[in-house]
Amino acid sequence: EKKVLSGASKDLTPSYDWFQTDSLITIVIYTKQKDMNAELVILDHEDKRLRGEIIVDDYSYLLEVDLDHAVEEDMAVNIAEKVGKVEIILKKKDNVHWKILGQPLESHNTFMKRTDRGTEVVKPYTPVLPFLPLDFKEPSCHDSAHIYLMIKIYSCGLFTQALDHLQIGDCISVSNPEGSFKKSQVQTSEDLFLLAAGTGFTPMVKLLNFALTEVSCLRTVKLIFFNRTEDDILWRNQLEQLALKDQRFEIQFILSQPKKDWVGKQGMISSSLLSEFVKRSRKDSKVLICICGPTPFTEQGVQYLKDLGYSQEEVHPFTA
Ligand code: FAD
Ligand code: NAD
Repeated sequence: EKKVLSGASKDLTPSYDWFQTDSLITIVIYTKQKDMNAELVILDHEDKRLRGEIIVDDYSYLLEVDLDHAVEEDMAVNIAEKVGKVEIILKKKDNVHWKILGQPLESHNTFMKRTDRGTEVVKPYTPVLPFLPLDFKEPSCHDSAHIYLMIKIYSCGLFTQALDHLQIGDCISVSNPEGSFKKSQVQTSEDLFLLAAGTGFTPMVKLLNFALTEVSCLRTVKLIFFNRTEDDILWRNQLEQLALKDQRFEIQFILSQPKKDWVGKQGMISSSLLSEFVKRSRKDSKVLICICGPTPFTEQGVQYLKDLGYSQEEVHPFTA
């Protein structure tokens, strides 16, 4: 007798397969998702551990294995968008035959709600001061019990949305500080230029405080602050107050999407804007230019400054 199962839903769980050539390992994931694209594929690879997460609406498919043999750092991802096929191509370090793809790790080949995955998300943030001290005569005393952060909440942001929904009493982990900036770079400067875009302003806060408080040879400190609209300018009032208080400090706001009534400067970072605003106060001034913002902003800025003749030692980009 033949039984007919009616109403059984199609299984939407992705599946995977793998194959090899002498030099390559190809993992194929059939997501069964029509509009697959590269942003929905998150790959992570450290030593022999491979973690590939694929986002399918509110769900996540995870491939997590300790690979059979070592592979090269760079890997490629090909996506057949219409059929939802994702190919991960790994380069073998040694041309040996793999018996298995690897040992499955705990969550390997699982498909579950993203929120149940409990994935650890790590993002860097730059501590700021609670406010800009307007009296720069004394080094401001720092209270070591608090860390002040200035964080923009993105409406689709993975981490900032979670952060915005934390309740008092919830915990997050904070790492030790990391970074390559050295105070000595400012200590010998006569002209300091700070090029900041959006929240790229955060590293400039303590830098500004340090420069105006403790660096006696500084003649000019100039902040060139790029934002989309007037409402996006962080600490505008404090910065304007500071410029009134301290003769050495100057500020220039530049908007990329100003409203009609904006009478100030507008535009994006460009060679002409930089040559207009970044000028040595004397022909032989020692200058330091710090730059921070969205990656394309920082990369373009560094290139324009190089083209304008500033040396690598004179430019410090804040990057990840
Ligand atoms: P994500 O989920 O990463 O997305 C952020 C927004 O960008 C969303 O609107 C998303 O749709 C969009 N997006 C994501 N990826 C791309 C892409 N490739 N191209 C275009 N758009 C994209 N931020 C602060 O607010 N304050 C700080 O002090 C600060 N310090 C930082 C220091 C360092 C060294 C670095 C590298 C970054 C710093 N950031 C800071 C940025 C911060 O680390 C996060 O990137 C930011 O908070 C966004 O995280 P998210 O997970 O909420 O957003
Ligand atoms: P945003 O998108 O509001 O842009 C601010 C300004 O940056 C724009 O007005 C424009 O002038 C410029 N800009 C934006 N995209 C550009 C592009 N593609 N090319 C040239 N210029 C461009 O900025 P946001 O949302 O506040 O983002 C700030 C960025 O700064 C984030 O990417 C963040 O990761 C980065 N950041 C880095 C550090 C660090 O230490 N490396 C610290 C803080 C913030």
